[in-house]
Amino acid sequence: MDITYHAYLEDESKMVGSADSISFPESEAEICEILQVMRDSQTPVTIQGGKTGIVGSGVPSGGHIMNLSRMNRVKSFYTTQAGETFLRVQPGITLNELRQEIARLETSQALFWPPDPSESTASVGGIAATDATGICHQLYGKSSSYVSGIRIISADGSVHDFTKGQDIIAIGGESKHLMDVYLGGEGMYGVITELTLRLIPKPRALWGIGFFFTDPGDGMSFADHLKSAIFNEPVAKIAAIEYLDPTIIQTLEMQKSSMTRLRQIPDLAPGISAMVYVEIHADREAAIEDMAESLMLIGERYNGEPDLTWAFAGELEIEKMRNFLHAAAETVILQIEKVRCEDSRITKLGIDVSIKEQGLRATVSQFEKERHKQELKTAYSGHVGADSLRIDILPENYEEFVKGRVLLETWAEKYSASIGAAITSYGIGKLKKSIFRKTVSIATIDHIIQLKKQLDKNNFWNPGNMI
Ligand SMILES: Cc1cc2nc3c(=O)[nH]c(=O)nc-3n(C[C@H](O)[C@H](O)[C@H](O)COP(=O)(O)OP(=O)(O)OC[C@H]3O[C@@H](n4cnc5c(N)ncnc54)[C@H](O)[C@@H]3O)c2cc1C
Repeated sequence: MDITYHAYLEDESKMVGSADSISFPESEAEICEILQVMRDSQTPVTIQGGKTGIVGSGVPSGGHIMNLSRMNRVKSFYTTQAGETFLRVQPGITLNELRQEIARLETSQALFWPPDPSESTASVGGIAATDATGICHQLYGKSSSYVSGIRIISADGSVHDFTKGQDIIAIGGESKHLMDVYLGGEGMYGVITELTLRLIPKPRALWGIGFFFTDPGDGMSFADHLKSAIFNEPVAKIAAIEYLDPTIIQTLEMQKSSMTRLRQIPDLAPGISAMVYVEIHADREAAIEDMAESLMLIGERYNGEPDLTWAFAGELEIEKMRNFLHAAAETVILQIEKVRCEDSRITKLGIDVSIKEQGLRATVSQFEKERHKQELKTAYSGHVGADSLRIDILPENYEEFVKGRVLLETWAEKYSASIGAAITSYGIGKLKKSIFRKTVSIATIDHIIQLKKQLDKNNFWNPGNMI
């Protein structure tokens, strides 16, 4: 493929694929024309949105790339008699563009679309196709809860409109709603060409509080405590509890000067090795203040440094903290990019683990013991509110990359229950396939194979994803 388009052979996983051609359709009619050509030449198609995926699901395995970034328009918006507002959009609209469009809507109250995988260049189609979660998953749930309808084009060129909870497909004696197949289906069964998004009222008050700890164990215990704590503030709700470990904190400090989005963030005090970020949403500022006071008291019990605590109020200020968390996730990608310059076989190497049973601290210590024996560098980031822990291995060279890959496979077998429970976080794509096979039941894999046979029998869409 022409070198101009080489950036489209990879996504944020840093996996690099191959393709013979690429298109940037601007309408459904163009998609249908392109698909006709691809069908006639029996060329498989990989669908791409914003290419921010971290498991290689939008990375092509040969064939044609259909990039939807130019289908980024809002088609209409309407409010039902019940007062719910919906927005019909094309799939390539990015989160950033969507937020600007929503801000322009003339509605009686400020609205928002809750899904936020922290990458503002992610497209709404990609978010829906991966059923992405986000920082505030604890309060708002998965992105599929905010999509009420989709339009699909199938491999044979037929167009279908599906509505939440209505259209059904029978698979191996079971029935499933078709929308649930496509949302989270990683583009395996067809291309989403339009989505109807459900908007909800914006919380009137938002606070983000960063708690800092010199001992990471204290930080993790604090996060575990918050997950199960019950507060007397019914109108204030914890929307996010995020944990950053010493590796991420140190790398962020080192990279800070080169990351423009971190310039407005205060410097971290020396000796800080872990952070817990808590976001609170409420309808009244006073309710948040009361809750924040309770949180401070709990933080002190776990040796949180009260003088070093960061508190941000309001949407604009919270954005700074979101940038900080996003930069934390990006440090891992930057680290992989650095070693990839030496050896192009290296890709992102990570796993997600459910912490529902044991909590954050016990889960980290379980994995840490085995990681330590292997002398591999790791970064732990806990989406505690969503009961999940991300473990990223940071190899220095290809030998460590191979060692890390073997370790992940061993963990997949040994801890199949906790890894299997979090396997769909960030998607499966191409990079998590072998771990997927080791941690889910044969019936689950068989279910996907059956769906693929019914909805895409010639393996036209996204070859190499999931199975
Ligand atoms: C720093 C960082 C932090 C992240 N944090 C999170 C997080 O907290 N939670 C989370 O869930 N994810 C997270 N992600 C992953 C990523 O942002 C999400 O997976 C996002 O939803 C992908 O959207 P995209 O438009 O970039 O899709 P792409 O990467 O382009 O594609 C992803 C998948 O969706 C399919 N797809 C895209 N558009 C369509 C369409 N119109 N029709 C059918 N299939 C389609 C593709 O074929 C592919 O399988 C993070 C990524 C980065 C880099």
